[in-house]
Amino acid sequence: MTEGKVWVRAGRDKPLRQGHPWLFSGAIAHAEAAQDGELVAVYDSRDRFLARGYWNSKSQIQVRILSWRDEAIDYAWWRRMLSHAITRRTLGAGDTACRLVNAENDYLPGLIVDRYGDWLVLQALTRAIDARKQEFADALLELTGIVNVYERSDVEVRQREGLGESAGVLRGQEPPATIEIKQAGIRYLVDIRHGHKTGFYLDQRDNRRLLRELAADCGTGARLLNLFSYTGGFAVAAGGVKHAINVDSAYSALELAEANTALNKIPAASAEFIQADAFDYLRHCVSEGERYDMVVLDPPKFAAHRRQVQRAARGYKDLNLNAFRLVKPGGWLMTFSCSGAISRDFFQKIVFGALVDSRRQAQVIRQLGAASDHPVALTFPEGEYLKGLLLRVN
Ligand code: SAH
Repeated sequence: MTEGKVWVRAGRDKPLRQGHPWLFSGAIAHAEAAQDGELVAVYDSRDRFLARGYWNSKSQIQVRILSWRDEAIDYAWWRRMLSHAITRRTLGAGDTACRLVNAENDYLPGLIVDRYGDWLVLQALTRAIDARKQEFADALLELTGIVNVYERSDVEVRQREGLGESAGVLRGQEPPATIEIKQAGIRYLVDIRHGHKTGFYLDQRDNRRLLRELAADCGTGARLLNLFSYTGGFAVAAGGVKHAINVDSAYSALELAEANTALNKIPAASAEFIQADAFDYLRHCVSEGERYDMVVLDPPKFAAHRRQVQRAARGYKDLNLNAFRLVKPGGWLMTFSCSGAISRDFFQKIVFGALVDSRRQAQVIRQLGAASDHPVALTFPEGEYLKGLLLRVN
């Protein structure tokens, strides 16, 4: 296949020269022989080589850069890049799961690979990555020795690439209903076929561990409200608190949360699983005058686009306002946003607004983010989607 060529408009090459991996259609002067999903060489307006990437005319992001060097992008190249990403991860003693490839942040735009024990889950977000997924499965087997690769490319963003959803076995066996993993020493069951993302929110590993430490300090009488619990990640990590309430709108998530609680030998009587809308449940708790030592707020992405930011901000404010009202003086609020369109700074302002309305006081004890197996390339600020605050509420 001949390689296409793309010329960047004069004055529009700075981000690319500085290492940003996206070239938008508006920055492109013209393209020659570029085919969707195939490689292109990128040149500046004076015909000097800038980078090599892959093309998709259907996407606003028409080129995603793979290399800033004039080198061949062949199987050996992909394998080398996968190897860099994978060897930079070290599984801690208490871990059998981690993100191995974090897309643009590992210089492999559009590709996510997560490891769950003896299974790999691959997510192909773009056409070029989708077209090469068999090759990736081969390379991953060579590099990790893991024979089972499951695909979870059933995500909406693929529409922007002109792709439908795709999921199923890429290599090896059909996965069982649940796979047991360990994260920071805690055991979880993961449904890689139907679970969210690739099955589990691996990115919250360090924050769950932090909650475990806080819970230990709070003592055995502590009460935890875990909102948007999914499969109970935070509550199970908190371990032997007196009472943990998990709230989620998805019944299947709560079923796994209950199973995870039992798996970690947490007494059934100390945990509750409530299928409810978290906004309503918070209001209910406020009206009942409930109080908790720890509240975790980990909602789904409210803003997928910039135009949803204001609505999302109102949602975050409402949640945080009621959460502040529920925390015992001296207790903890761990609050998150995973909306890429909401910056860390803006999120903190929203939480500030909620605090003012609640008439409480709070101290930032820590800024929170994704675990270290979810690196963010400094040249790719879009990579920082998860942001959070650990607050002591007075
Ligand atoms: N804290 C979780 C991850 C949360 S993901 C963990 O540690 O694994 C967001 C969760 O919010 C999903 O499980 C989703 O089912 C749930 N959810 C989405 N909208 C909701 C709503 N309005 N009320 C309650 N739960 C909701």
